[in-house]
Amino acid sequence: MTLNIGVIGTGAIGRDHIRRLSHTLRGSRVVAVTDINAAQASRVVQEEGISAEVYADGHALIGAADVQAVVVTSWGPTHEEYVLAAIAAGKPVFCEKPLAVTAEGCKRIVDAEQAYGRRLVQVGFMRPYDAGYRQLKAVLDGDRIGAPLMIHAAHRNPTVADSYSTDMAITDTLIHEINVLAWLLDDQYVSAQVVFPRKAPKALEHLRDPQIVLLETAKGVRIDVEVFVNCQYGYDIQCEVVGERGIARLPEPTTVQLRSEARLSNEILMDWKDRFIDAYDVELQAFIDDLARGQLTGPSSWDGYLAAVTADACISAQNSGAIVPISLPERPAFYG
Ligand code: NAP
Repeated sequence: MTLNIGVIGTGAIGRDHIRRLSHTLRGSRVVAVTDINAAQASRVVQEEGISAEVYADGHALIGAADVQAVVVTSWGPTHEEYVLAAIAAGKPVFCEKPLAVTAEGCKRIVDAEQAYGRRLVQVGFMRPYDAGYRQLKAVLDGDRIGAPLMIHAAHRNPTVADSYSTDMAITDTLIHEINVLAWLLDDQYVSAQVVFPRKAPKALEHLRDPQIVLLETAKGVRIDVEVFVNCQYGYDIQCEVVGERGIARLPEPTTVQLRSEARLSNEILMDWKDRFIDAYDVELQAFIDDLARGQLTGPSSWDGYLAAVTADACISAQNSGAIVPISLPERPAFYG
């Protein structure tokens, strides 16, 4: 069976998802697209060589009779409105992060989904689908290093756009660590603190970069995540788990090892799209396959809500310098 999908937002990741849904994955086709910039949506349809109808807005697309599932890849502040509309129409929806730009907005989605009575939402947290993180989780779940005590992690980008602000280090960047580390540890956060080292010379005037986010979990694991978005040298994701009797590290992406000109070297990727290209394929294939089986199992609206609550605490910690407590509600049985 082929799932007919409508995509709202044909920018960078929207177009990438249209490509994979149309040409890479099994069991899906894109039958509808929309973007606030209609000419861009038409251009993407043409360039991807698909026969999708271009709708005037997201609501018309969600209401279209042939659209069976919705993918939301528009600008973050529009996500809540479209996800709520998809739930109201009883249509499954894959929403890129953030699920909503406030924790309250995420909670409205959680409430609407529970009132509907069945899971309809998957959030675009792709790291749990990355092969390296899955191997790391298998090591932890298999008790190969004992109980985790600490995690040292880093999220480094070569550069960022002028529009990137200090709080976006949390909402756009750290948000992936917030999601994947809680999943890795099967744990949740109880406090956050943010400290700022000496500023990097390449960081824009208005930006405090790098920063170190210190998280504590309910089981007592201490986590430090370095967020450094002007590191120049590459897009570099690091994660080292220190356990009771061993250490487990996230594998590096596979690259050719070069012996040349008196050096032994490996290439470092520059772009997040290349680093997680397989994870994006796997997460959307899981969305399609789960719908065919009748039950979504990927990152849920509850995970989107927990990430938003944690991100709020981190932003408050950025501003105050204090250790900010995080009070997370119990996961309802509805979310497994
Ligand atoms: P982008 O290139 O700016 O694309 C967003 C698109 O949505 C733009 O074409 C924008 O048009 C359009 N848009 C804005 N308001 C709209 C509306 N009301 N209805 C329909 N379309 C609308 O941004 P992006 O990088 O693709 O990011 C999109 C979302 O994906 C963001 O929430 C981002 O955080 C998320 N994302 C996730 C990952 C990940 O790793 N999971 C990676 C990248 C992005 P205009 O440009 O004309 O405003």
